[in-house]
Amino acid sequence: MRDAQAFYRRSISDPDGFWGEQAQLIDWHVPPKQVLAQSNPPFRRWFVGGETNLCHNAVDRHLAERGEQPALIYLSTETGEERYYTFTELHREVNRCAAVLRSLGVDKGERVVIYMPMIAEAVISMLACARLGAVHSVVFGGFAAHNLALRIDDAKPCLLICADAGMRGGRAVPYKHLVDDAIAQAKCPPAHVLIVDRGLDPEMQWRHGRDVDYRDLREQFSDAQVPITWLESNEPSYILYTSGTTGKPKGIQRDVGGYAVALAASMKHIYNAQPGETMFTTSDIGWVVGHSYIVYGPLIHGMASIVYEGLPIRPDPGVWWKIVQDHQVSTMFSSPTAIRVLKKQDPAWLKKYDLSSLRYLFLAGEPLDEPTSRWITDGLGVPVLDHYWQTETGWAMLTLLPGIEHQPVKFGSPGFPAYGFNIKVVNELTGQECGAGEKGVLTVVPPLPPGCLSTVWGDDERYVNSYFGQFEHELLYFSSDWALRDADGYYFILGRSDDVINTAGHRLGTREIEEALQAHPALAEVAVVGVHDEVKGQVPVGFCVVKDPALIASAAGRAELEQSCIAKVTELLGPVAKPHRLHFVVALPKTRSGKLLRRSIQALAEGRETGDLSTLDDPNALEEIRRAVAQ
Ligand code: AMP
Repeated sequence: MRDAQAFYRRSISDPDGFWGEQAQLIDWHVPPKQVLAQSNPPFRRWFVGGETNLCHNAVDRHLAERGEQPALIYLSTETGEERYYTFTELHREVNRCAAVLRSLGVDKGERVVIYMPMIAEAVISMLACARLGAVHSVVFGGFAAHNLALRIDDAKPCLLICADAGMRGGRAVPYKHLVDDAIAQAKCPPAHVLIVDRGLDPEMQWRHGRDVDYRDLREQFSDAQVPITWLESNEPSYILYTSGTTGKPKGIQRDVGGYAVALAASMKHIYNAQPGETMFTTSDIGWVVGHSYIVYGPLIHGMASIVYEGLPIRPDPGVWWKIVQDHQVSTMFSSPTAIRVLKKQDPAWLKKYDLSSLRYLFLAGEPLDEPTSRWITDGLGVPVLDHYWQTETGWAMLTLLPGIEHQPVKFGSPGFPAYGFNIKVVNELTGQECGAGEKGVLTVVPPLPPGCLSTVWGDDERYVNSYFGQFEHELLYFSSDWALRDADGYYFILGRSDDVINTAGHRLGTREIEEALQAHPALAEVAVVGVHDEVKGQVPVGFCVVKDPALIASAAGRAELEQSCIAKVTELLGPVAKPHRLHFVVALPKTRSGKLLRRSIQALAEGRETGDLSTLDDPNALEEIRRAVAQ
């Protein structure tokens, strides 16, 4: 075993040597002339002059060695469909799709918006764009027409690819219908809409001259061979929009060579996965996790990747573990929210299937509370590794490195800075570095390593101001996350710095109070927000989902539980963090990617109207908050 600390140190002290070696993990059409160029910080360019292509690395380069091995495994528990593609079959499909796109005018540098449910064609169209050197922008299917229109106007695509509908919880969710609405609102609509018609929406309307049927065109290009378009390493590969502090979404722009190298390296050092194995990432291709670890990461590494359309508890809460057993999954990647959903079910489901192929479960996207982490670790009997990253970084910033060295898990911590990330926890006002155990904001000293955003699409100024403009004296990438490093060097993420609660002059992270509440055995899930208070400025108010609704069936039961939960917080964090009120609800309002709609909860708790709700998963959950507050 190698030494993870030495590996990390070298990545910071000798980035040229370190990343020059990692660059050999991918194929280059023309090798890079220079590993790192940073004449204009915070901009930087990786692998300058190198020419490569994401589709070549994900598909073509595996044909000789593993052409007959599985590449894509498509499973839908919604429609019952299962489809398997070897690398050779995937290559054929991607070529056909690339030929279709080319016939519709897609070329190098053109943008293509992909608005699709979790079907194989979604992945195939991303790879086809990459093959042509076109820039895809996948928009999550849960976004409403207005959000889609905003993204269309920013990316100005020549083509939009969609399906008629997705399926969720047994119901068809129309997509094309929303596309029609979005295009009606957009100022820069695409010339064509390419539709994968699954036959799920009999009401779908076709717009003559604009809408094109993918199946028809695909038939015309059955033996098409579309040559790879080689791109300079720093040309854009894709745009992925993420929410900022303003209403206008930020188009995170990723490069080609740096991204491919970062993903290839992560598959080895972080996920400790082997080519030929199977990875199951339960995200959606509309999120960064889906881009990096459903599509590009596993395929670049020569692994099979599972594309799953369905819920974790349908047809029953064992469905994921059956997939692991049936497809010999070695590496799984999910989110804490999903595990908390499973935690409400009978733990016997975790033992029903043979999970001997599974080596790791990785979790990311939100804080992983210790009780949930312990529950799933004990239940599965494999290491559960929390790791921390953002849409902007494209891969993990804080993680353990099982591919380099076995490092013990510390519950509640995503581990140490990943190689390439020179992380500093600093005081959010002064930029002064914090000592061990001291809370500050997590920042990264530039250059950002390969794989991280190159800029904000079409807006270099916004890239500089939003991410590097916090301190006058030093350029630091500002994550907006509270963090601390303990005496052993493990980092802890303490919630968003923009969700801070200031109560009577004391700053409290909502995450800290949530963790304390989660330690109460009666609670399944909680959200804490800061609510305006005349005397103290803000007070924490909690919304809690109970495991057993019988506990709160009566007013007396609710009052008793509220007191005992508040006592738990006082016990763990002291009276300063004591919630002012706790409301008990059946579910918490979340986005369809599982993030809590904290600002909307806070607005309702303060008697204000909610903001943008287009990403809301279950409207009833928000209504419940409204009712709870009104009582
Ligand atoms: P997104 O860009 O939507 O993936 O969200 C990134 C944000 O999710 C980060 O800034 C953190 O606030 C949060 N996050 C992601 N991973 C973790 C983690 N492992 N622990 C705590 N928070 C996380």
